[in-house]
Formats: sequence, structure tokens, C-alpha cells
Amino acid sequence: MLEKYISKQNLKKLLGRVIKNSTLVAPVRPYGEVLFEDVKFADSIVFDFENALNSPKDWVLLNDEDLLETASPQKKPLVIFGARACDTKAIGLLDKFFARTFKDPAYFKKRDSILIITLACENYGRNCFCGSVDGGPYLTDGFDIQLTDIGEGYFLEAASKKAEGFIKRYSGLIKNTGAAQKKLKEDNIKNIKQPEEARFSLENVYKNIGEEKAPDAFWKDLAQRCQSCGGCLLICPACSCFYVTDKKISAKKIARMRSLDACYYEGFSRMAGGYNPVATRSLMMRRKFYHKLVQQLDEFNQAGCTGCGRCNEICPGNVNWLESIKRIDKYV
Ligand code: SF4
Ligand code: SF4
Repeated sequence: MLEKYISKQNLKKLLGRVIKNSTLVAPVRPYGEVLFEDVKFADSIVFDFENALNSPKDWVLLNDEDLLETASPQKKPLVIFGARACDTKAIGLLDKFFARTFKDPAYFKKRDSILIITLACENYGRNCFCGSVDGGPYLTDGFDIQLTDIGEGYFLEAASKKAEGFIKRYSGLIKNTGAAQKKLKEDNIKNIKQPEEARFSLENVYKNIGEEKAPDAFWKDLAQRCQSCGGCLLICPACSCFYVTDKKISAKKIARMRSLDACYYEGFSRMAGGYNPVATRSLMMRRKFYHKLVQQLDEFNQAGCTGCGRCNEICPGNVNWLESIKRIDKYV
């Protein structure tokens, strides 16, 4: 792990130079909400925010991506600045998913040219519960670069080969660090306290879902409120489900489109013969909880939820994911 320091002034300069050499995605506040967007001016970047409404996944796993087109090399490197720990951790899960049986060429052709600069959190946002699912608020590994605010500047950690190259390139703006700054970083991290209402035991939840402790009425209650809009799944930084369709572009050209799918859509599990093993919303609810909080832990040693809270924020049916997990935690 490489440890450095960058002042706030120099970080802005650095991002300005990144815009000239690469495509930069960063948090901006265009109409009130913070969103990740392609950024053309470093001055438009926001540094003080809870988390953006969309996640950087939008640049890593594209919706409606032509798998034949993206198999050609990426022209410009992409730098994502300001990903919160939960989002970087979620992208780490996507990396594992797309390499689990073979390395998905379209995914990695793009992914290999993306460098992520994570901005460790200083506080919990109103919907955040990353501490309960090992999703943040800061990372100990699995990032390219992580910045922790220590007042006048940031303590910078670099943990990948890509990050080392990046630091060499912008070395004029990045300084060496020492024990005093490292202590400041560690003190800041120690001071972040997860609110009591965001806490649950993932171990209990894993066990209780596996043992089907939640009664049918619990799942029915959630099912009644869900509108099957798919929003919670499409916005989730850790969801990776997709479907593939072939589309005729012209007499000589087809596109093989990969589009994001959502397991709360009715057709998600329907088979060619019409049989659907997960036909009711109640079953769909169970499956999502099982998949994210049991199966992915078994398969990847990581929950399929990193606690970003976006699904709570956007759900029109008030199917509160966090409160539901807390209820499952309590079934003994
Ligand atoms: S956002 Fe809410 S209503 Fe929409 S699919 Fe998810 S749980 Fe259902
Ligand atoms: S399940 Fe909800 S809280 Fe968890 S990572 Fe996905 S959007 Fe965030």
C-alpha cells in the first residue's frame, strides 16, 4: 500500500488535468440532488455530500450495451472520482460476479481501463447502514485510490498497479506523508459512529433467512407494498442481473444487447415453456433477500448489499429494505 498526501487545492488541479487526459465521472449537484455525471469542469465537482442518487455502476455495467461493439478497445481511460466506500465495494462484487465462470470480455475490456478514486465517508447519511454489511464507511482493501479528509487535504492510499501509475503521472501534485497525518486519518476513522437504528447482525440475518424464520405474513406484507417497478434493483450498485437480446440494425449488422434486468419483474424467472418457479411477489421478495444476504455471502464471501441506502430512498411502495432486514434479524 502506497501512502501519500494531497492538499485540497492540488486535488482540484489534479482533477482539472484528469479532465484533459481522460474521461472524468464525478459527483455534481445540477438541480439540488447530487448525481454522478461526466464532468467537463473541475469547478462543478462537489466534495461535501452524503452520497449521489445514482451510483458509479452506471459507467461500469452499462444498461443496453452492445456486447459486440464494446469488445473493441476502450479509447480513453475513465476515472471515477468520489465513489463512496459502499459503491467501490459494490463494484468489487460486480468484478467477482463477471469473473466467476470466465472473464466476461465486454465487462473487463471496459473495467480494466477504469480507475476509481474512493472518498471515505466522514459521517453516516440518513439511509446508510454500510457498517452492518461490511460495506464502509472506509475501505481497508479492494480500492485503487482512497482519500480520507484530514482537514487541509487528504490522506491518500493507493492499493493497485493502476493507482501507482496514476500517482506517478500526477506526482507534482501529490506529496509524501508521515506519521502525524496517518494518525489524523486513523482518528477521523475512529470517530465515525454508525447510528443505532442502522445496526443489525448480518450473521443473524444470514442464519434466519437460511432457516426461513420470517413467517409468510412478513413476505406477504412486503409483497403487497411492492409495485414491481424494479427501481430498487436498477439503482442498486451491487445488482448485476441482465438479459441479452439480438437486435437487427441493418441488413448486414446486428447488435447483441445486454440490458439490466430486475428480479422483481414478473418475467424474470419465466421459462421458455411458460412455467415460472418464482411467480408471486412474495416469492420474489424472499428470493432477493436470500440472494443478497445468504447466497452471495456463500459464493463471494461478501453480501450483495453494501448498505448505500438508495433502495430505501427511491421505493414508491415504502418497502423499507433496512427495516425489513432488521425485522429478520429479530426473528429467533
Ligand atoms: S423500488 Fe419498491 S416498489 Fe419498486 S420494485 Fe423495489 S421494492 Fe418494489
Ligand atoms: S440493496 Fe439497497 S442498500 Fe443495499 S446496496 Fe443495493 S441499493 Fe444499496
